Amino acid sequence: MTKKLFLKTLGCAMNVRDSEHIIAELNRIERYDLTQNESEADLIIINTCSVREKPVNKLFSEIGQFAKHKKKSAKIGVCGCTASHLGADIFKRAPEVSFVLGARNVSKITQAINSEKFLDINIDHDESGYAFGEFRQNPYKAYINISIGCDKKCAFCIVPHTRGEEISIPHEIILKEAAKAAKNGAKELFLLGQNVNNYGRRLSGGKKGELNFSQLLTKIAEIDEVKRIRFTSPHPLHMDDEFLEVFASNPKICKSMHMPLQSGSTNILKAMRRGYSKEWFLERAKKIRQLSPIAAISTDIIVGFPGESEKDFEETMSVMEEVRFEQIFSFKYSARPLTLAAAMRDKVDIATAAKRLLKLQTRHAQILDEISSDYLETVHEVYFEEIRDGGFVAGRTSQNNAVCVKGGEELLGTFQNVKITQPQRLILYGQIA
Ligand code: SF4
Repeated sequence: MTKKLFLKTLGCAMNVRDSEHIIAELNRIERYDLTQNESEADLIIINTCSVREKPVNKLFSEIGQFAKHKKKSAKIGVCGCTASHLGADIFKRAPEVSFVLGARNVSKITQAINSEKFLDINIDHDESGYAFGEFRQNPYKAYINISIGCDKKCAFCIVPHTRGEEISIPHEIILKEAAKAAKNGAKELFLLGQNVNNYGRRLSGGKKGELNFSQLLTKIAEIDEVKRIRFTSPHPLHMDDEFLEVFASNPKICKSMHMPLQSGSTNILKAMRRGYSKEWFLERAKKIRQLSPIAAISTDIIVGFPGESEKDFEETMSVMEEVRFEQIFSFKYSARPLTLAAAMRDKVDIATAAKRLLKLQTRHAQILDEISSDYLETVHEVYFEEIRDGGFVAGRTSQNNAVCVKGGEELLGTFQNVKITQPQRLILYGQIA
């Protein structure tokens, strides 16, 4: 009988890919089938995120629940960023946990499940050349890591402490993985890294890579079976002309750019150690729209960073008005351990931060209503990748809009022109044109 795995993944696309690596590694030794029911699982893994405080706080109550309902013989493991930063403390606070495996130590999963109280959270461990087994949750699109870790030290961010220094994966490994995934049916590839457009700056051992990110994109686009390429996250600081020109001119590269602003105030950007100014950000966004008028731009914004005045916040609002982002991931600042900002004085009180967040999100909802109403009766090429409830199938436009039409499995993995009949803020409903 095959064993059953309950795997809960929190956080970003990197974590989703790490979970796929975990499954692939387990399957090298013996087959595990995924289950949504922790009480029938032989192995329970929580792949955690520590970018914000809330999921970290929830972790221990969740472990308690899993321990109560699990099979007697089932093991519980904690992987990912919270594993990296809490380490052995997890055993102290939750003795039910059998192993703790950091975000940079995923390749050790089979060792972890076969040991008692296994702990590996070494952020210097280098998996950049490791050949993980093959497993993909969605056969129609493939996540592909192009780098691990991050060399930036943004004042609010815990990631460099959980994922270690930035190392690019050799381009030969990436190209082989891309060709294989595309041959197996993933016409859309999603390249992942903390700073994808800094690709090639340093390989394992310190050597510079042979290709930069623009050259890597061009090489991947030469693979016949690859029809679409996405990537996340690029850093605004590294958005040079070469990169923006390749982004705009290569038809296989999706016209959707994630540009994490964080703040619209140059003073706050300096305090955040982001390395660019408001003016640089606006000029790069303008250049993207000049080179590719159809491009959609999404962003991340933090409100209430220490020292943020009303004037600083209004500058963020003004960048939003000017760029008219198609999507914003916005949050109140929350102090993370090990970060520079955690020790900063001049904290913004919670009520002020909440008020600012509400103002930003309310105005953005209006902007989105205006943007989405322009989609009515327009036709877009959609790549279908997922069945939804109610007889719908969902896919995405090149600009990363989610589109739903009535249909079923026959549409999965196909490109179709869709006429938008009912544009909503987050989903565009339509019919095959
Ligand atoms: S670039 Fe900054 S925000 Fe992004 S992962 Fe690195 S330190 Fe964190």
